[in-house]
Amino acid sequence: MKKQTSHIDTEYFRKRLEKELSTLEADLKSVGHRNTENARDWEPGANDVDIEASDPADTADNIENYELNTAILKPLEIQYNDVRRALDKIKKGTYGVCEIGGEPIEKERLEANPAAKTCLRHKD
Ligand SMILES: [Zn+2]
Repeated sequence: MKKQTSHIDTEYFRKRLEKELSTLEADLKSVGHRNTENARDWEPGANDVDIEASDPADTADNIENYELNTAILKPLEIQYNDVRRALDKIKKGTYGVCEIGGEPIEKERLEANPAAKTCLRHKD
Protein backbone atom coordinates (compact mmCIF):
# COMPACT_ATOMS: atom_id res chain seq x y z
CA MET A 1 0.00 0.00 0.00
CA LYS A 2 1.24 3.49 -0.87
CA LYS A 3 2.51 5.60 2.06
CA GLN A 4 0.14 8.28 3.30
CA THR A 5 0.28 11.58 1.50
CA SER A 6 0.90 14.83 3.29
CA HIS A 7 -2.51 16.30 2.37
CA ILE A 8 -3.97 15.62 5.80
CA ASP A 9 -3.22 16.46 9.43
CA THR A 10 -3.14 12.98 10.99
CA GLU A 11 -2.80 14.34 14.52
CA TYR A 12 -6.09 16.18 14.10
CA PHE A 13 -7.83 13.04 12.76
CA ARG A 14 -6.26 10.83 15.44
CA LYS A 15 -7.82 12.98 18.12
CA ARG A 16 -11.21 12.90 16.39
CA LEU A 17 -11.03 9.13 15.95
CA GLU A 18 -10.06 8.53 19.57
CA LYS A 19 -12.97 10.67 20.73
CA GLU A 20 -15.34 8.78 18.45
CA LEU A 21 -13.93 5.46 19.70
CA SER A 22 -14.67 6.25 23.33
CA THR A 23 -18.20 7.44 22.47
CA LEU A 24 -18.84 4.25 20.51
CA GLU A 25 -17.44 2.14 23.34
CA ALA A 26 -19.84 3.77 25.82
CA ASP A 27 -22.77 3.21 23.45
CA LEU A 28 -21.75 -0.43 22.92
CA LYS A 29 -21.48 -1.01 26.68
CA SER A 30 -25.03 0.30 27.10
CA VAL A 31 -26.46 -2.49 24.89
CA GLY A 32 -23.86 -5.25 25.10
CA HIS A 33 -20.54 -6.57 26.36
CA ARG A 34 -17.20 -7.42 24.84
CA ASN A 35 -16.64 -11.01 23.74
CA THR A 36 -13.96 -12.21 26.18
CA GLU A 37 -12.35 -14.30 23.44
CA ASN A 38 -12.23 -11.55 20.81
CA ALA A 39 -11.77 -7.86 21.70
CA ARG A 40 -13.18 -6.75 18.31
CA ASP A 41 -16.39 -8.65 18.89
CA TRP A 42 -19.31 -7.39 20.99
CA GLU A 43 -22.30 -9.42 22.14
CA PRO A 44 -25.75 -8.05 22.93
CA GLY A 45 -27.03 -7.82 26.46
CA ALA A 46 -25.30 -7.99 29.81
CA ASN A 47 -22.53 -10.52 30.28
CA ASP A 48 -24.22 -12.61 32.92
CA VAL A 49 -27.83 -12.63 31.81
CA ASP A 50 -29.32 -15.92 30.65
CA ILE A 51 -32.08 -15.62 28.06
CA GLU A 52 -33.77 -18.66 29.53
CA ALA A 53 -35.70 -17.76 32.72
CA SER A 54 -37.93 -19.82 35.02
CA ASP A 55 -40.94 -17.72 34.03
CA PRO A 56 -41.84 -17.99 30.30
CA ALA A 57 -42.91 -14.32 30.33
CA ASP A 58 -39.42 -13.36 31.48
CA THR A 59 -37.89 -15.53 28.77
CA ALA A 60 -40.02 -13.74 26.18
CA ASP A 61 -38.87 -10.37 27.57
CA ASN A 62 -35.24 -11.48 27.51
CA ILE A 63 -35.53 -12.60 23.89
CA GLU A 64 -37.14 -9.28 22.94
CA ASN A 65 -34.36 -7.33 24.72
CA TYR A 66 -31.72 -9.49 23.09
CA GLU A 67 -33.14 -8.82 19.62
CA LEU A 68 -33.44 -5.10 20.30
CA ASN A 69 -29.88 -4.91 21.63
CA THR A 70 -28.61 -6.87 18.61
CA ALA A 71 -30.28 -4.42 16.21
CA ILE A 72 -28.68 -1.44 18.02
CA LEU A 73 -25.32 -3.14 18.55
CA LYS A 74 -24.49 -4.31 15.00
CA PRO A 75 -24.08 -0.89 13.28
CA LEU A 76 -22.21 0.43 16.35
CA GLU A 77 -19.84 -2.55 16.22
CA ILE A 78 -19.12 -2.01 12.51
CA GLN A 79 -18.36 1.69 13.08
CA TYR A 80 -16.28 0.81 16.15
CA ASN A 81 -14.08 -1.57 14.17
CA ASP A 82 -13.79 0.92 11.29
CA VAL A 83 -12.53 3.56 13.72
CA ARG A 84 -10.04 1.11 15.27
CA ARG A 85 -8.83 0.22 11.79
CA ALA A 86 -8.34 3.92 10.93
CA LEU A 87 -6.31 4.41 14.13
CA ASP A 88 -4.17 1.37 13.18
CA LYS A 89 -3.56 2.94 9.77
CA ILE A 90 -2.38 6.18 11.38
CA LYS A 91 0.13 4.10 13.36
CA LYS A 92 1.23 2.29 10.18
CA GLY A 93 1.43 5.51 8.16
CA THR A 94 -1.21 4.47 5.64
CA TYR A 95 -4.06 6.67 6.85
CA GLY A 96 -5.88 8.68 4.17
CA VAL A 97 -5.05 6.28 1.34
CA CYS A 98 -7.91 4.68 -0.60
CA GLU A 99 -7.95 0.92 0.08
CA ILE A 100 -9.15 0.18 -3.47
CA GLY A 101 -7.21 2.53 -5.77
CA GLY A 102 -4.34 3.64 -3.52
CA GLU A 103 -5.02 7.30 -4.24
CA PRO A 104 -5.41 9.93 -1.48
CA ILE A 105 -8.86 10.07 0.15
CA GLU A 106 -10.37 13.56 -0.22
CA LYS A 107 -9.94 15.76 2.86
CA GLU A 108 -13.66 16.69 2.81
CA ARG A 109 -14.54 12.99 2.88
CA LEU A 110 -12.30 12.40 5.90
CA GLU A 111 -13.77 15.47 7.59
CA ALA A 112 -17.23 13.96 7.16
CA ASN A 113 -16.14 10.44 8.14
CA PRO A 114 -12.59 10.13 9.57
CA ALA A 115 -12.91 6.30 9.37
CA ALA A 116 -13.58 6.36 5.61
CA LYS A 117 -11.65 3.53 3.88
CA THR A 118 -11.96 4.65 0.27
CA CYS A 119 -12.02 7.82 -1.85
CA LEU A 120 -15.29 9.18 -3.24
CA ARG A 121 -14.79 7.39 -6.55
CA HIS A 122 -14.52 3.99 -4.85
CA LYS A 123 -17.06 4.81 -2.17
CA ASP A 124 -19.57 1.99 -2.78
ZN1 LIG B 1 -10.23 5.20 -4.51
